[in-house]
Amino acid sequence: MPISKDFERRLSTSLRPIVDHYGTPFHLYDEKGVRETGAALKEAFSGFEGFREYFAVKALPNPEIMHIMRSMGFGLDCSSIAELQLSRKVGARGEEIMFTSNNTSRVEFEAAEAEGGSILNLDDISLIDKVPRMPELICFRYNPGGRRTGNDIIGNPIEAKYGVSHNQLLDAYRRAQARGARRFGLHTMLASNELDYSYMVETTRMLLEVVEWLSESLDITFEFINIGGGLGIPYRPDQTPLDIHAMAQEIGAEFDRFRSRYGYAPRLYMESGRFMTGPHGVLVTRAINRKVIYRTYVGMDACMSALMRPGMYGAYHHIDVLGKEAVQETVDVVGSLCENNDKFAIQRALPKIEAEDILYIHDTGAHGHAMGFNYNGKVRPKELLLRSDGTVGLIRREETLDDYFATLEFEPDRMVL
Ligand SMILES: *Cc1c(COP(=O)(O)O)cnc(C)c1O
Repeated sequence: MPISKDFERRLSTSLRPIVDHYGTPFHLYDEKGVRETGAALKEAFSGFEGFREYFAVKALPNPEIMHIMRSMGFGLDCSSIAELQLSRKVGARGEEIMFTSNNTSRVEFEAAEAEGGSILNLDDISLIDKVPRMPELICFRYNPGGRRTGNDIIGNPIEAKYGVSHNQLLDAYRRAQARGARRFGLHTMLASNELDYSYMVETTRMLLEVVEWLSESLDITFEFINIGGGLGIPYRPDQTPLDIHAMAQEIGAEFDRFRSRYGYAPRLYMESGRFMTGPHGVLVTRAINRKVIYRTYVGMDACMSALMRPGMYGAYHHIDVLGKEAVQETVDVVGSLCENNDKFAIQRALPKIEAEDILYIHDTGAHGHAMGFNYNGKVRPKELLLRSDGTVGLIRREETLDDYFATLEFEPDRMVL
């Protein structure tokens, strides 16, 4: 079950005129779908007072999308100065922004503290003394390492570069407190594209146990726990979507247990990217060549610069051919990079694709355009938004060669040594 039947139905009538008007290639995002996912998430967690999703900006860093997130009451999770600036351009301030950076530089901290600040989510104990002004509210990212957390679901983050280790955690909060912090949160991010919701339940249980331990040891209370992103989406037709209602119910039981012991519970935050926008985007690209050697290759007018996931991770993205349904042959769907992994699909059974056919590659709404790169001088495509009112808007133009050349110094300076 890749993109929704509803999005697909609307594409079946609107894609041809959009292609004719804007030209290919482009990513097209579906506002209606994003809003439905947001509403479903809010509904599932409506029993949690103060629940908040902080949309992970890196998944789809476009102001129009970020406006939609804000209009649903969501915050924005940032990890770079560019993401902070984008968030402020769409009006987010203070605790509407979570700054979850790692290997953070001083200029990044200064940017995070500028213009009304943000929630600082510190990735290491050594950063406590590097924060220019310790804010009142501070959060740490926790890395549980090899600790067992009740069952075997949570893997072994010992090799991950992120977060504060278990034996540093108490000291981290104590030192932040000594520098003036008075309000506290706790964060972790342990899953990625996970369709089994029990990971998130386990994460919640683990964080609440840590909160108990820290609260009792330091005589502080926690305002929130942030269970991170990593909620999965079904990229393959045979996968079932994450059950957010069951997830909310089981997370709720963990909160109830905590509340019955302590008389309060922290707020629940999460910071999903993929889950919010992934299924609500398609990469639309035109077949320009067909090549038959040992295998059949269908060459597209888009390449890895528009979508890295298949080439980089071997990720599956479902593909449809506009107006053709019956499967007729097995082909590789490729871009034009001088890099043999520039393939959107390998040995995929598809209808017979001729030059000029329009393909749409599913689930490109998160970590799609945003991950694109310029290797081989390939520029990134435009982004379009199919709005809830049925209109379409260009929300990012395609890159041009002038953009690509913009950083080149055609007359370099000369430093004499
Ligand atoms: C990438 C990232 C996310 C979002 O991940 P998704 O898989 O898109 O949900 C959330 N939080 C942090 C800290 C991240 O690095």
